[in-house]
Amino acid sequence: MTTPGIAAQTRFDVGAVRIDRMVESEEPLLDPLEIFPQATAADLEAHRAWLDPRHFDAARRLLVIPIQGFLVRVRGKRIVVDTCAGDCKQRKRPFFHDQRRDWIARLRALGVAPEDVDFVVCTHFHVDHVGWNTRLEDGRWVPTFPNARYLFARAEWEYWQSTDGAQALARTSDYLADSVLPVVEAGLADFVAMDHALCPEIQLIPAAGHTPGFVCVDVRSAGERLVLAGDLLHAPLQFSFPEWPMRFCADPVASARTRVRLLSEWAASGTLIMPAHFPSPSAGFVERLGGAFGFRYV
Ligand SMILES: [Zn+2]
Repeated sequence: MTTPGIAAQTRFDVGAVRIDRMVESEEPLLDPLEIFPQATAADLEAHRAWLDPRHFDAARRLLVIPIQGFLVRVRGKRIVVDTCAGDCKQRKRPFFHDQRRDWIARLRALGVAPEDVDFVVCTHFHVDHVGWNTRLEDGRWVPTFPNARYLFARAEWEYWQSTDGAQALARTSDYLADSVLPVVEAGLADFVAMDHALCPEIQLIPAAGHTPGFVCVDVRSAGERLVLAGDLLHAPLQFSFPEWPMRFCADPVASARTRVRLLSEWAASGTLIMPAHFPSPSAGFVERLGGAFGFRYV
């Protein structure tokens, strides 16, 4: 789904780096009162003028949420950032259950085969960011990108191995068993620091809170910059309410603190950001607006 009249830009050039959005789905998906425990119906009403219809399907009372990953190309390297929900996966949330969306076709349409991918980065281990790490082959889950190094923040891996992580997985069912463990078992995973630099143009930004190992991806080249902000925010409503955690934040207090700190920094520096779940074209500039923030889409 694209909102009528809004150009869905999919390609962003940042100096010598090319970034392409690869959208798996973009539909009214999540109830804002479900995902933002602190939100009230009155909050929504107060912001309806700019929410409708791009961000909010008023009839179904659902936020429009894309699930997407990104292809980043620089220095002849091909890097996939986040791998969406995946196909054929058994999931508790009906929307993600047993999908057939063939997201890999988006990659091929950009002239890249799964075998050509050099690196895969998962900003964190939630279900909509790790799905296409693996694909089904003869009843087994095998790495989708057989020649890639999969870069996982060590802190993220360790969290999901812990008691807290196990409890979080009990809620959703253990999707890491089919989407992360096969990659580790195949020897394709590298556990990296949260500020790991892939190359001079691309570096991870530690952003613990949503999950303990959550990272954003900083892209800089030739004086230009774009930050793939992942799930630092889930909807532009959080510019007005930056303290709102979303329901699945592992540490709601740290999530709010990190969000306010990074948004303040990006507003001051005029940085272009692209959160994972903002409606197309997803990218824009953060602005200071009184004690909160605003957003200007590209
Ligand atoms: Zn997400």
